[in-house]
Amino acid sequence: MTLKTEVLKPDADGIATAAGLLAAGALVSFPTETVYGLGADARNGKAVAGIYQAKGRPSFNPLIVHCADAAMARTFGVWNAPAETLARAFWPGPLTMVLPLVPGHGLSSLVTAGLDTVALRVPRHPAAQRLLRAFGGPLAAPSANPSGRISATTAAHVLAGLGGRIAAVLDDGPCPVGLESTIVGLAGPTPVLLRAGGVAAEEIEAVLGAPLAVDDGAEIIAPGQLASHYAPEASVRLNATTARGAEVHLGFGPMDCDLNLSPSGDLAEAAANLFEYLHRLDATGAAIAVAPIPETGLGLAINDRLRRAAAPRD
Ligand code: AMP
Ligand code: MG
Repeated sequence: MTLKTEVLKPDADGIATAAGLLAAGALVSFPTETVYGLGADARNGKAVAGIYQAKGRPSFNPLIVHCADAAMARTFGVWNAPAETLARAFWPGPLTMVLPLVPGHGLSSLVTAGLDTVALRVPRHPAAQRLLRAFGGPLAAPSANPSGRISATTAAHVLAGLGGRIAAVLDDGPCPVGLESTIVGLAGPTPVLLRAGGVAAEEIEAVLGAPLAVDDGAEIIAPGQLASHYAPEASVRLNATTARGAEVHLGFGPMDCDLNLSPSGDLAEAAANLFEYLHRLDATGAAIAVAPIPETGLGLAINDRLRRAAAPRD
């Protein structure tokens, strides 16, 4: 589908138009102090699926949820002392904190990729701030570039990569930092540097008065915390047109099954439901049989996650 991507000015009209598009489930790119983000309502699974569709991302990673202020962030992440310290020191700014999810948070499970933690950030850029306030809710926003290409730091980069695939871009000139946000994990006993970025690790350590552990992907510091990908406990069997024995059946397209990712065969709907439905079926304790999903568009990312879920684990 080709859209006419609107270029909006960061004035009252442009901000109101952008907020209205986001509220309607459309994608709007907006500047932050790091790079241009590709924003979608973080509570709307189909809108978040649209991010993956527009970027052509072949796999689901948890996305950063952008909030207007710490008060909004606290409605999604369970607050603790280091979170308070870092929020006071660095928000608004290029710092992302990973915290346990607040029960009843209302975020799409596609935003957190099924994890029980959420990455939260309050950007400092005036246009991002105005947009978040006008929208009045959380925005999922990875960098506004096609998958595998470099991040966009001007509206022209955004249009070159995503023009025709998103509703609008809010153009407020080049981004001042150009680096991604620093990500700190605060969901376990030790603060962990998950990604280096716009705020130096030394500055964070100085404010915390303690060293940051480093997640190099190899070392497990706190069990559970660094599993950056959700996988069901149950065994998963793919390309299952019917369930066998005691299996529960996760369907796709018109069929009889226990839960259906999308009865009409809509891949965006299936992506939006994927993690929530895997969690629900996993809770039954039965093995999960999954119907075939087409290897096209969003089906690539869905199948990528299902193959990981079905792979033998230790
Ligand atoms: P971006 O695509 O720039 O928005 O990057 C998002 C980054 O945040 C990715 O590296 C994710 O793995 C990381 N991230 C988001 N949520 C979480 C989470 N709950 N736990 C750990 N890392 C996360
Ligand atoms: Mg990126």
